[in-house]
Amino acid sequence: MEAAPVAQLDRVSPSEGEGCPFEPGREHIFPAAEEPAPEPEAQLRMRRAIELAGQAAAAGDVPIGAVLVVDGRVFEAFNQKEQRPDPTAHAELLVIRAAAAALGRWRVGGVLYVTKEPCAMCAGALAAARVERLVYGCRDPKGGAAGSAIDILGSAAVNHRVDVIDGVLADETAAQLREFFAQKRRPERWSSG
Ligand SMILES: [Zn+2]
Repeated sequence: MEAAPVAQLDRVSPSEGEGCPFEPGREHIFPAAEEPAPEPEAQLRMRRAIELAGQAAAAGDVPIGAVLVVDGRVFEAFNQKEQRPDPTAHAELLVIRAAAAALGRWRVGGVLYVTKEPCAMCAGALAAARVERLVYGCRDPKGGAAGSAIDILGSAAVNHRVDVIDGVLADETAAQLREFFAQKRRPERWSSG
């Protein structure tokens, strides 16, 4: 006795076979390609901010990097507090200033990517510059002003609302900071011991 399904397949005529999904020349819907999906823009921008933060660390500054995308233009900066030295030379402030100077306006707008939750000074600057969206990596429980220690951006006293997205590559950005402080402490211990 013949197995029915095999016999039926064998008897498919050429005309009936036109509906075969693997026939050349027809639209095929295959499962997702093997290549991974392109990385979302937020992660790509954050990776660049992490690179910039690395330049800060190389110069002895706390590794914080910032990328500001506005009107299709990209501005970059990293923390230079020690290097300049300037207590206001945080990555966010430097990138906002660079954008304002290049664009010729104080209402900068755009999307600001930064590796760590901004401090109170920088959160105030974001609102003042009318930045539309803040995307940051790790939270700063001690000084973060986007809700962790204080919520400047959510305050009723601030008349511009900044859309906030946190946790983008948070593990990488937190690890970069931890590594910096771990390396910084080591020689100090040796010198004092
Ligand atoms: Zn700051």
